[in-house]
Amino acid sequence: MLEKNLRKLRKILKQHTSGGIKNYINGREYAATGRKSFENHSPVDGSFICEVVSSDHRDVDKAVKSSLEAFETWKKMDHKKRKGILLKLADQIEKYAEEIALLESWDTGQPLRFTKKAAIRGAANFRYFAEKTIDAANGLSTPDTHHVNFTMKQPIGPIGVITPWNTPFMLSTWKIAPALAAGCTVVHKPAEFSPVTAQLLVRIAHEAGLPKGVWNTIQGMGESAGKSLTEHPGIKAVAFVGETTTGMHIMRQGASTLKRVHFELGGKNPVIVFDDADLERALDAVVFMKYSLNGERCTSSSRLLLQRKVYNKFVKRLTERVNNLKLGHPLDPHTEVGPLIHQSHQSKVLSYADLAQEEGAKILAGGKAPGGKLAQGCYVKPTLVEGVKPEMRIGQEEVFGPFLSVMKFSTEEEAVQIANSVRYGLTAYIWTKDTGRAQRMARDVEAGMVWVNSENVRHLPTPFGGVKYSGIGRDGGEYSFEFYMETKNISIAYDTHTVPQLGKK
Ligand code: NAD
Repeated sequence: MLEKNLRKLRKILKQHTSGGIKNYINGREYAATGRKSFENHSPVDGSFICEVVSSDHRDVDKAVKSSLEAFETWKKMDHKKRKGILLKLADQIEKYAEEIALLESWDTGQPLRFTKKAAIRGAANFRYFAEKTIDAANGLSTPDTHHVNFTMKQPIGPIGVITPWNTPFMLSTWKIAPALAAGCTVVHKPAEFSPVTAQLLVRIAHEAGLPKGVWNTIQGMGESAGKSLTEHPGIKAVAFVGETTTGMHIMRQGASTLKRVHFELGGKNPVIVFDDADLERALDAVVFMKYSLNGERCTSSSRLLLQRKVYNKFVKRLTERVNNLKLGHPLDPHTEVGPLIHQSHQSKVLSYADLAQEEGAKILAGGKAPGGKLAQGCYVKPTLVEGVKPEMRIGQEEVFGPFLSVMKFSTEEEAVQIANSVRYGLTAYIWTKDTGRAQRMARDVEAGMVWVNSENVRHLPTPFGGVKYSGIGRDGGEYSFEFYMETKNISIAYDTHTVPQLGKK
């Protein structure tokens, strides 16, 4: 099966990346104005994939101008027509599902078993928001005695969408679909480590009949292309997914043009397992939520808090499961954990294994790169560390890899205290059969999203986002439109009130 997938991949690569990856502006592909480019390599074995253009402020300016022009017609387009285009786009994404999965696995190292779902989720995002193209503008009626007041929502303008390299295809659709449904236009800046499916996505959108200029994609580095996008006065809002420190830069960069920002940032999410939990289901969820998607997942539960009584039994079972995870080639359908995105990230994750030992924690599984055939890729063996104290760096910092820190607690209060001891607050997972305790924990943990007796199961109308250093704002359902649209109040008099009369004799 691996051989068959590799053969398919070679064909698809030829078709989609042989000319290199360029910017997509106003319905056409362009090299960067400064003629600069960089090489993109696969984390699987370091092999060269393609050349990618490296854009600067001139390319960004061209893309923003095109988005501003397209905004005038896109925002006024009949909503049924706009909806039709977005639905067609969803169909096209599904048509390319296999290409998307193979390319994303090769470009990012994510196992095929997960990237196979990228197109389905991406298409679902477009379908969901397409159905809302008209209702997105809904407002409130707040009449008073002498006036009718009503609000309407209107698209804010061109949006800068900046995405990271983890699950890049799905995440891009999660931002771009509601922006387009709202009537905004988009300039997308994908991550430099994962440019491939972003190019396919914008091509697919145009195949589906999206008018030129409505969606432009700029490839390149964060410090140049990304920075220019956040500083451009034509961009009204920035939807950003990435690291917390990058979010801080973007806030500063956008300050002088008063950018509205929406941030989905880092996490160090707790999964809290109480003595009375369904331990079998909890174990499945703990393994899935840390080692799926190579642990490169913002919502992953990277701190396991175990109640004292179940600690030994749970850790023993968990160690067996972690040692049993299938590390391997991402295009092998049996693979559960693939290579990390890049050598620099592999080194970062491995450095936390060294740090764990320096800090006095104990490595129960992994903690090193594999040898043999996998040595040429950016692999890290699934890692499990116990004896972690909340104040240790491995208990505080986001590792963003297949690396789980285990801690022990005695009481509910202690669990809350440990859970809240980090600067992040994206998700929390609570396992208990005591409903009162579940409610108290859900209330008291500092997180934007809490799952009780469940792993992360997304439901598109629910709000998605974090508190503290994990983000600003919410996505999902109506929440997305709060960001991509402005609320306008219209007040119409019944001509019954007294208008003040100044300067009258
Ligand atoms: P990153 O912050 O390094 O890069 C993200 C994007 O920002 C890239 O496109 C990059 O080119 C761009 N960028 C970098 N510097 C910039 C600047 N000064 N101005 C404008 N753009 C700039 O993040 P990453 O390493 O690609 O992704 C991993 C991070 O993303 C993790 O911290 C993870 O938790 C976070 N993440 C969060 C969520 C969430 O929903 N909260 C989801 C996915 C990933």
